[in-house]
Amino acid sequence: MENLPSNVDVQALIQENIALKRKLKSKELLLDQKNAEIQQYLYTVSHELKTPISSMRGYSILLQDFHLNDMNPEILAYLQKIANNLDQMDQMIDNLLDYTRIEVTQEECEEVDCEELIHDALDELNYLLQQNQYELTIAPNLPTIFCKRSLMVRVFTNLLSNAIKYSKNNELPRIEVGYIPDEIFHKFYVKDNGVGIAPADKEKIFQIFGRLNNKKEAKGNGLGLIISKRIIEKHGGEIWVESVRGKGSTFFFTLPRRSCN
Ligand code: ADP
Repeated sequence: MENLPSNVDVQALIQENIALKRKLKSKELLLDQKNAEIQQYLYTVSHELKTPISSMRGYSILLQDFHLNDMNPEILAYLQKIANNLDQMDQMIDNLLDYTRIEVTQEECEEVDCEELIHDALDELNYLLQQNQYELTIAPNLPTIFCKRSLMVRVFTNLLSNAIKYSKNNELPRIEVGYIPDEIFHKFYVKDNGVGIAPADKEKIFQIFGRLNNKKEAKGNGLGLIISKRIIEKHGGEIWVESVRGKGSTFFFTLPRRSCN
């Protein structure tokens, strides 16, 4: 204040500042409201789609069961494909519903040992891990974090399963879970030596159905990372990727040291 030129009207500046803050606050409220409307819309559409999908699935299974012996095998195979695709759709809708429901409150958070989180994630991935060779290193200095346990297991499950799914076909997947201590944030990373992500795609992968063509045979529905992003953001952190196409990727995420959100 002391260094301001004498012709500056300090009172006017303060008033302008207050008015700008108010304007910003009302824009934030409007944005929150719009976001809530989009979530509600997504929830309703997803929910409404579940009933017809499960009825179509039921009919296709009934047809297969009733006509197992008198139906042309080609038609039976088509029916099987229809049922498989409907299963996939159903799974996508469940993930969309999960996405809209992700919330984190202080009351739901607890102190959790990260090593336990990772072991829970590895248990979830049992089937995938048994089918693949891989090498996994876990940092010895993992902290205890304040979080909603089930959701953070989901983040590790997603990042670890992607590290295996998007590995190179001719190279053993090498995965590293690391931790970089910082005064304000916990900073974690999951690093792999897989197919990598082109610079232009680094944002797309965090969007809804943001699948790339970087490994065609890998199964998925393009919702894992957007769900992880929402979980991390609801805890007050951030997630991003650093990657070189053909050389591997490192997914980083931060979490505030003390509170959930
Ligand atoms: P999904 O794996 O079900 O397709 P995700 O949301 O988890 O969905 O990932 C979105 C896309 O990001 C994937 O389809 C893939 O193309 C890319 N991706 C995710 N993780 C990796 C990784 N570790 N290495 C290379 N590409 C990745």
